[in-house]
Amino acid sequence: MLRLILCALIVLQAPSAQLQQRIRVWIAESVVDDAPGSWPRRLMKERGLLLLHGNQAFLWYLSPEGQVFVLDTDRFGHRMESETNLPAALNAVAQAARQRPELAEMLPARPEGAVDCHHCHGSGVEDQWGSCSCAGLGWTL
Ligand SMILES: [Zn+2]
Repeated sequence: MLRLILCALIVLQAPSAQLQQRIRVWIAESVVDDAPGSWPRRLMKERGLLLLHGNQAFLWYLSPEGQVFVLDTDRFGHRMESETNLPAALNAVAQAARQRPELAEMLPARPEGAVDCHHCHGSGVEDQWGSCSCAGLGWTL
């Protein structure tokens, strides 16, 4: 029962007004050039979404209001969909927070009784297989 209650607390928090403004500034300040690999950043500007994280198959973006979107890079048209997979959304924000620590306010606070993730030893870092089972948080229940 306690575990169920704790799991319900693990959600992405909405960004504060201050962070929302910061996200808009990051998007506006992002430099886009015509280099072949720059389309994910160009998309960030065009759609007003912050590029959070990516792997070989997906890119994750964040709206200033706190919604995470996912883009399947193999699909035509660069269509973005709302990320409905919570661990994937948490991991995208957690990985982005390594470069932009302000984003950490969106991550759930570590509950009392949580233990260091035994896969990444509490670091939350991805390995060659992708995101850790702790969703980048570094702890599990
Ligand atoms: Zn882990």
